Amino acid sequence: RAKDAGRGVVRRYLPEMHREAEERRQLETELRSALKNGELTLAYQPIIASHTQKIEGFEALLRWTHPALGEVPPDKFVPIAEEAGLITSIGEWVIRSACAEAVNWPDNIRLAINLSPLQFANPNLTTVILSSLSKNGLSPTRLEVEITEGVFLAENAYTLATLHQLEAIGVRIALDDFGTGYSSLGYLRKANFSKIKIDRSFVRGAAQNSDESVAIIRAIVAMAGSLGMETTAEGAETEEEYESVRDLGCGQVQGFFFSHPMSAAQANALVSEPEGEPNVVRRNFG
Ligand code: C2E
Ligand code: MG
Ligand code: MG
Ligand code: MG
Repeated sequence: RAKDAGRGVVRRYLPEMHREAEERRQLETELRSALKNGELTLAYQPIIASHTQKIEGFEALLRWTHPALGEVPPDKFVPIAEEAGLITSIGEWVIRSACAEAVNWPDNIRLAINLSPLQFANPNLTTVILSSLSKNGLSPTRLEVEITEGVFLAENAYTLATLHQLEAIGVRIALDDFGTGYSSLGYLRKANFSKIKIDRSFVRGAAQNSDESVAIIRAIVAMAGSLGMETTAEGAETEEEYESVRDLGCGQVQGFFFSHPMSAAQANALVSEPEGEPNVVRRNFG
């Protein structure tokens, strides 16, 4: 009887699993040509100083405009790119394109890019970053790379060496999505992090007066402060969320309340305003 039930399960789920695998394979094939077809772009989301509300930087976020499906979210295609071995070339394109774009911004505006754990399997990662910076005359101190604990879960012979090289040339390192996953504090000793990005689930909780979220943000902010790291609260969507994280001591905030990710041209226009104009981001720009 157990066998029958088992077979029933298989019969019910197989077509669904098959369809998903098919879809994935299809996307993988199309992703292989997306780069040369110009279907990939970068969107830029402002990172705001909590107290002054001035733009301190932009995070580059990958976008894939599929010819038939339209926008495919990165949470969907980045894992496919990783499995298909495409993330190294796509990741290099991200580094080069974002650096080329950031040259147009004022010197005090930083660029943040996301690095996949798998990019650390490439012993040339530091070289790629350095050459993109120097080609565009961009100071390494203006670049921040965002990594998740996934980098340490997938740690290989090059991982720590690469992080230390990046540190040594002045590139800043941020720990992204902090508070999700394992978030072992041991990871904080693996590199000289400049910043912790607090996951948006806590930001949501803080505005809803969740004692746990408030306590966790407080603890992260205190720890970051004593280790000389900055904090950025991710995903603030409302004024309440912004004010909560500002009042809890998060130095920077990022989220739809201030701005959705925008095109390179929009980002450029936003920071290229005439001298004297207050460099304050317009709410819900883009
Ligand atoms: P992430 O690095 O944590 O990026 C923040 C994500 O939160 C972005 O989603 C952003 O659009 C979204 N977000 C910003 N403000 C708000 C808000 O107020 N509310 C909500 N609900 N969401 C907000 P996006 O662009 O879809 O990217 C998702 C993830 O995909 C990123 O998470 C990152 O892990 C990955 N990703 C994006 N671009 C790249 C890339 O160039 N390379 C790699 N390896 N991964 C990337
Ligand atoms: Mg990020
Ligand atoms: Mg994040
Ligand atoms: Mg994320």
